[in-house]
Order: sequence, then C-alpha cells, then structure tokens
Amino acid sequence: MANIIEVKNLTKKYGNFKAVDNISFEVKKGEIFGILGPNGAGKTTTLEMLESLRTPTSGIVKVLGFDVSTNAHEIKERIGVQLQATAFFDFLSCEETLDLFGSFYDEAQKSSKLLEEVSLMPKAKTFVNDLSGGQKQRLSIAMALVNSPELIFLDEPTTGLDPQARRNLWDLIDAIRKGGKTIILTTHYMEEAEYLCDRVAIMDEAKIKDIDSPRGLIRKLKAENKVEFSADKKIDLKKLEKETGALTADYVEGDVYSLRTKDSHKTINQLLEYAKKNDIKLDNLHISQATLEDVFLSYTGKSLREK
Ligand code: ADP
Repeated sequence: MANIIEVKNLTKKYGNFKAVDNISFEVKKGEIFGILGPNGAGKTTTLEMLESLRTPTSGIVKVLGFDVSTNAHEIKERIGVQLQATAFFDFLSCEETLDLFGSFYDEAQKSSKLLEEVSLMPKAKTFVNDLSGGQKQRLSIAMALVNSPELIFLDEPTTGLDPQARRNLWDLIDAIRKGGKTIILTTHYMEEAEYLCDRVAIMDEAKIKDIDSPRGLIRKLKAENKVEFSADKKIDLKKLEKETGALTADYVEGDVYSLRTKDSHKTINQLLEYAKKNDIKLDNLHISQATLEDVFLSYTGKSLREK
C-alpha cells in the first residue's frame, strides 16, 4: 500500500522544551491511523506539523508526496482538517457555515450533500449555537470534507461527548474511511483507538513508544487474561491451577472461580476437559482480554484513565 504520510526524525522544540522528540512513522492509503496518548504527549503538535500549520524544528514530513517545508500550499489544498467547535460562528446555520467554509476553496462540495453525509440534514437551518455537542462535532467533520480531501485530520474528535454520541461519531468516521479516505486522528480514549484504528502510535512525553494494530500491540504485550466461570461443584484450587495450566486459580465469590493465564485458549480447553472428566457443569464462562490500556501502562508506567 502506498504511503500517504511519511514522517522521519521529526522534532519540535519550544525553546529548550521538546514537545515532539525525534518521531518517525508512515500512514498508508485508506487506513485510520491513530495517535494515542495522554494530554501533553505531543499529539496536537505532531498533527499540526503534518497539516503544515506548525514548522518542524527538524526532520522530514511528506504528505501526499509533498514536503511540508516547501509545499505547504499544495498540502493545505488537498487535506481536510477538523476545526474545533470554538472556531464556529454561533449565529450562522449549519448550511451557511458550510457554504462560507466552501467559499475558501476553488471547488467545494454542496452543503446539502455534506449535511446528508454527516446526518445533519434536519439541522440545515439550525444555528450552530443551538446544536448539541455531538452535532457540532458532526458539523466540524462535514467542514473537513468540504474540499473532497483524500486525507482527513481529526484532533480528538469525540472529546467531551457522551458515550452514545461518541459511538455515533465512530460510525461516521468509519463510514468516511469506507468511502475511500485516509484518516489520521488523535485520541486519549483507548476504546476509540481500539475500535476505529487500523494502526495506533502510542505516544507519551514527546516520543512514540510503539506502532502496530491494536491487536498486534496487545499480542506483543503477552498480557495475562482472566478466565472466569461458575461451577456446580466445589473444585480444589490447587488442582484447578495444575489441570488448566493457569498461573493462579482463585474463588471470586460463592461458586465463581477466576483463573489468571497467559494462554486463555489452552486454559479454556483444559478447563472444559477437566470439567467433562469430573462431571462438573460450568456456567457463565467469561474471558477478559488485555486492552490497549494495559499496553499503554506497560510502555509508560501510567494509566490513560488517570489523565
Ligand atoms: P497533546 O495534544 O498530546 O495534548 P500538545 O501537542 O498540545 O499535546 O502539547 C505537547 C506539549 O507541548 C505540552 O507540554 C504543551 O504544553 C507544549 N506546547 C504546545 N504548544 C506550545 C507552544 N506554542 N509553546 C510552548 N509549549 C507548547
């Protein structure tokens, strides 16, 4: 797959402070690439250098084959950038906002088509001021699509939204990608990165710690999984541990058992075999997989949730 973005040894300094420290990565055509990290990690600074809005201190950034240091204009014409809702005019309607924004480009999509695409058609005549948080985010995504860009930048697209509005926005972002666009987004929600992104860069304190698919990152971690179940008979914990190859076996409460394992596949198979052999009826079998949160914790020693 072709690279839409190429970043090599990119650094941004403010005085002596490094906001972005020698990062390198590529974004491939058609993927959703996420930069996951806590506040202050350097995500926005990175994005703004790719959008040719900030000048790198050193390093190379190529976007759609153009160098940001020499071809900023060509890049800006071809990318879509989601503006923060605070940049809107409160007393323009959605339609007027898109028409105004479209007038900045030689060729712009019709506001009706854009509103349709982000499911805001019923709000065409509504003032921006009267939109909900989720609707404002939809409008800002429509604005990013106004010049039919191949590549779209979304900076924390769902921050501040309630879970339902967030899920709706994920569906929209996914639909835009399915329409053939490449998307690069920043987030500090691991669920968002896990749900949406083909590949994720884990960023902390100005550096990229690793890049891979969410599954790949989790697999690499070789994290422990938890297997829980209930049983109709008492099982000796020592025996259970031995028979299932689990690291530990415990009672959670009542008849619920919990096994810690690095190989949930093997543990479950052996558990089922053991249960059959001993005529034990299992119920509520449940595996909890490691998440990107665990990956983040292992790379940075801190939790995203605390941020
Ligand atoms: P993130 O988007 O991950 O929250 P940012 O890229 O906004 O992080 O910021 C990274 C770091 O750079 C932060 O410590 C921030 O305070 C600092 N920073 C960002 N912009 C400036 C600026 N214009 N001048 C000085 N420091 C800045």
